[in-house]
Amino acid sequence: MTLIKGKKCPKCSKTDRIIEAEDKTKILYYNMQGSPVYKKQYKCGNCGHYFPTET
Ligand SMILES: [Zn+2]
Repeated sequence: MTLIKGKKCPKCSKTDRIIEAEDKTKILYYNMQGSPVYKKQYKCGNCGHYFPTET
């Protein structure tokens, strides 16, 4: 789990507990071991809201 600094939750506007998470519904590709690599997204540890990394 990686704590992300400088990101703001669009729902509760807090910045202190944003973590990196995987969006298991979006597989980018499979690595050489055949394991899926998922698209990254952020999760707010304050309200539990998930939001995309592009914002
Ligand atoms: Zn939040």
